[in-house]
Order: sequence, then C-alpha cells, then structure tokens
Amino acid sequence: MARLKLDSVNECARRGYNLRITCSGCGRAIEANAVLLTQELGRRGESMALEKLEERAKCRECGHRGATVMPCEVNF
Ligand SMILES: [Zn+2]
Repeated sequence: MARLKLDSVNECARRGYNLRITCSGCGRAIEANAVLLTQELGRRGESMALEKLEERAKCRECGHRGATVMPCEVNF
C-alpha cells in the first residue's frame, strides 16, 4: 500500500486531511483544520511547508517553540 507524501499544509487540505500538531516541550497535541490554516498562511504570505510550521509553532500551554506536525484523517 502506497503511503501519500504530504509535506505541505495546502496539500493536506487538498487531500482532506487535518493536521495534528504536537508540542515537543510538553507533549500537548491539538488538531488544526488544514483548510483554514492554508487560508491563514496564504493571507500572511507564509510558507506552507510542514517543516516550517514545525519550526514556528509555539505552544500555548508551555510556551515552547517547536512541534511535530503530522497529517491526520478527519473524523466525522
Ligand atoms: Zn507545550
């Protein structure tokens, strides 16, 4: 079974995935809507690359900068 390579926010949005963002400081995980995030990044002119998002992501819980971003399936 081939695994999709998803390395950008807009690609995840296009395939119907959300993003699971896990803080590498405290382990707190949130699920982000990839479609809304694509619009937000586009408006700000920022990179859609997941690895850039990982570098920039800042945890609201512990203030740690740096996270793991994984595509996750949308559960209805
Ligand atoms: Zn944290």
